[in-house]
Amino acid sequence: MIEADYLVVGAGAMGMAFADVLVTDTDANIAIVDRYGSPGGHWTRAYPFVRLHQPSAFYGVNSRPLGSDVKDAAGGNAGLYELASGAEVVAYFDQVMNQQFLPSGRVQYFPMCEYAEGGSIVSLVSKETHQVAAKKVVDATYSQTSVPSMRPPAYDLADGVRCVPPNALAALDGSPAGYVVVGAGKTAMDVCLWLIATGVDPDDITWIMPRDSWLLDRANIQPGPDFFYSTVGGFATQIECAALAESIEDLFERLESTGQLLRLDKNVKPTMYRCATVSRAELDELRKIQNVVRMGHVRSIGENEVLLNSGSISTTPETLHIDCTADGLERRPPVDVFHGEHITLQPIRTCQPTFSAAVIGHVEASYTDEKEKNELCAPIPYPNSDIDWLRITRTDAINTARRNSDSELGVWLRGSRLDAYSAAGSLEGPPDEEQLKVFAKIGEHTGGAIRNLEKLLAEVDG
Ligand SMILES: Cc1cc2nc3c(=O)[nH]c(=O)nc-3n(C[C@H](O)[C@H](O)[C@H](O)COP(=O)(O)OP(=O)(O)OC[C@H]3O[C@@H](n4cnc5c(N)ncnc54)[C@H](O)[C@@H]3O)c2cc1C
Repeated sequence: MIEADYLVVGAGAMGMAFADVLVTDTDANIAIVDRYGSPGGHWTRAYPFVRLHQPSAFYGVNSRPLGSDVKDAAGGNAGLYELASGAEVVAYFDQVMNQQFLPSGRVQYFPMCEYAEGGSIVSLVSKETHQVAAKKVVDATYSQTSVPSMRPPAYDLADGVRCVPPNALAALDGSPAGYVVVGAGKTAMDVCLWLIATGVDPDDITWIMPRDSWLLDRANIQPGPDFFYSTVGGFATQIECAALAESIEDLFERLESTGQLLRLDKNVKPTMYRCATVSRAELDELRKIQNVVRMGHVRSIGENEVLLNSGSISTTPETLHIDCTADGLERRPPVDVFHGEHITLQPIRTCQPTFSAAVIGHVEASYTDEKEKNELCAPIPYPNSDIDWLRITRTDAINTARRNSDSELGVWLRGSRLDAYSAAGSLEGPPDEEQLKVFAKIGEHTGGAIRNLEKLLAEVDG
């Protein structure tokens, strides 16, 4: 029998960020169980050239910085704050576990163990079963993150077709006749950028893009005072666009013309939004790929033909197909974060999973009333479509206003390194007149943005 105050199921980024706040802010005992052999969740399964899409500065657990707080001097991210590689993220979570959690004497870690409903954990190695008596069970698996190496493609593959997850690229033996990248999300963008950076001619890349995506400009999501106007100013601009838009079309025109959303091809209207984040330099590289196939999803790949929902293209047995179709940020139905003895970790800030998990940890440690706790932590499922931009921005604005009106929580949030808007609190000295105008714009338009987004959403949701 294992006894603990909290049983955290999942040692991925969210489980680790939640547990970190309990270790720091309380004297609770925590048992962490994970079916993988080391902490870090999907990062332990990702392709070797994966990196964070947003700065290391606000990723990981609250109590320990990730990275060395420098701006990249070369490559597609030059001029912007560093992005940890997958290997760095995994090493970081290993350090958090072994240098902080376990030495605290209050954390027990059970790697290679499967949790089963009812409270038992089974070792995948020895088959030994333990019962866990915990006051609360924390589900840190709800996001169901998947990366291509975790599962086979959802389309049929004929015998002899070369189709690999991105993990196989770094071990490629010989150069294929061409590359077909399947998928339009950030993993596919990573693969296209990696191929171009390693010397592949963009004309040798065919990019199968079922939907075009609205993209975030990484320059607008940066820490520190240097980026105050792009990050906090950018947020103010989004809120203003949301408040003033006369229609959904007008909203996206405003967001694009003010540089808040980017697109790959100016002639194709995006219908997807999944918080994919790029730099302008990376976008320029991606635009070098001219063979973009917009015929829907792949149904099957044969020796000489790729069959899609609305057409087909030719291929060859010597062509390498790279599957990038895993749903890395699945849109899961929202459930109450706090429900009795259960806590279900979900994003409560748009596409900021570790910040969300840390805030949930702080609310758990500091508040007792379940209704109040849930009001402070309304889930914001990962977006999928362009319309989801409206949904997540509305709920985010409501959540942020609620949390900031709670003075104790407001102080904690301003001190959290995981807050992507930490640039707001990093000014040296009081804000000057121009900076005050940015804050005033947010104050002026937040209420109007929430009301207008609800009105626009009613037109599509009925
Ligand atoms: C390529 C990529 C880049 C990203 N870049 C960024 C970024 O720059 N910034 C950002 O904020 N976010 C980023 N994200 C999103 C975010 O980091 C992840 O979605 C987040 O790490 C999810 O963490 P998680 O803990 O919810 O899930 P996971 O990483 O999936 O962890 C869940 C864990 O639960 C375990 N588990 C599941 N079921 C059981 C069970 N029954 N018993 C025991 N263990 C179980 C699994 O083994 C796993 O370790 C990125 C995501 C991807 C895919």
